Amino acid sequence: MDADVTIIGAGIIGLAVASEVADGKKDVYILEKNGSHGMGISSRNSEVVHAGIYYPAGSLKATLCVEGRELLYETCAKNKVPCRRLGKLIIATTEHEMDEVGRLMQNAIRNGVGSVSLLDAAEISRIEPNIKAAGALYSPDTGILDVHSLMDYYLHDARMRGAEIAYSTQVSAIEKASEGYRITTRNNAGEYFEFATEKVVNAAGLHSDTVAGMIGGEYVLHYCKGDYFSISNVKKGTVNRLIYPVPEKDHVGLGVHLTLDLNGRMKLGPDTTYIDRTEDYRVPASKGDRFYESAVRFLPFIKREDIVPDMSGIRPKLQGPGGGFRDFIISEDLPGFVNLVGIESPGLTAAPAIARRVKKMLNGVTSR
Ligand SMILES: Cc1cc2nc3c(=O)[nH]c(=O)nc-3n(C[C@H](O)[C@H](O)[C@H](O)COP(=O)(O)OP(=O)(O)OC[C@H]3O[C@@H](n4cnc5c(N)ncnc54)[C@H](O)[C@@H]3O)c2cc1C
Repeated sequence: MDADVTIIGAGIIGLAVASEVADGKKDVYILEKNGSHGMGISSRNSEVVHAGIYYPAGSLKATLCVEGRELLYETCAKNKVPCRRLGKLIIATTEHEMDEVGRLMQNAIRNGVGSVSLLDAAEISRIEPNIKAAGALYSPDTGILDVHSLMDYYLHDARMRGAEIAYSTQVSAIEKASEGYRITTRNNAGEYFEFATEKVVNAAGLHSDTVAGMIGGEYVLHYCKGDYFSISNVKKGTVNRLIYPVPEKDHVGLGVHLTLDLNGRMKLGPDTTYIDRTEDYRVPASKGDRFYESAVRFLPFIKREDIVPDMSGIRPKLQGPGGGFRDFIISEDLPGFVNLVGIESPGLTAAPAIARRVKKMLNGVTSR
């Protein structure tokens, strides 16, 4: 056998798995089709450490988010990965939305989020005087981090314990062998290379359904784009926490919200638009009016001219347009072959917990 464990994809998930699985004894390889790590979904998100409020109780999204959140804070603190537990408000602007905030509070408690509380308008204006809200759910354990530093840390940690990474190496075919698997890769020069591996982890993000399909998996991902608009730096410091409206009913997205990065820069987004399977990251300026109208309801200090198109990301969704909630797929579909499919939000937060689960699967402790 040429490799013990082969991880396909060097985003936050593949790198967290590599850091968990590499132990200085096993031959662990990470294969990445791009020229560097972290150029996929993991580089195009809100960098929010979610608390675990929204997801249905008992789902992988709920349990791995709550577990992953604390692991992330610990990892960041120990390894100097920039991170701040700055807190978040999910705000209601009407009585009807207040009922929804109450329901979210109950869900958060069921999910074991801890430390959430309800605030009235006066309490909100004491901590965030510039926003407009009738009431809110306050989550002090929500935070933000620098995802690139985190990915660099996981890769460094995995390499220190013997893992190797191959860039510009696209997995093009996988075959089940009598023991383990044969993997074929293709490099940028169009050259093919084949090797044998005992175990495989498919962490290929937007292409994880295609990779699973190479070995008989029948998953189908829908691409759902999220656009962001940035708010002029003139408004920097106006708000100090993440501010979210009540989420969309259908679990597609969390509603256009206000995020902050570690430099205090403010962004609105991401929205949700199902698209064809293309990676087109352009943000249409024509969406500006819609973003402005959604945001000005609770951020009254914003003017239309303060917002301009920024970045976008694409979610790998199992849930198609109009479909209901779908959980992460973390499944050992063939012996020693773990598929990670539909790892959309809160995938970044859940990454260390997903990695622990995958390690247990590879060690034969659990298969689901
Ligand atoms: C708009 C948006 C906002 C989000 N916000 C948050 C947030 O605030 N908090 C949070 O917790 N989560 C958030 N998420 C979710 C989070 O970003 C993802 O769950 C996470 O980044 C997925 O990581 P990944 O490693 O699975 O995918 P990726 O980062 O895409 O990594 C997969 C890698 O596999 C490689 N690959 C694909 N096919 C092959 C192949 N055949 N051979 C070799 N390599 C291959 C790709 O090039 C890529 O580098 C957000 C997602 C989006 C889209």
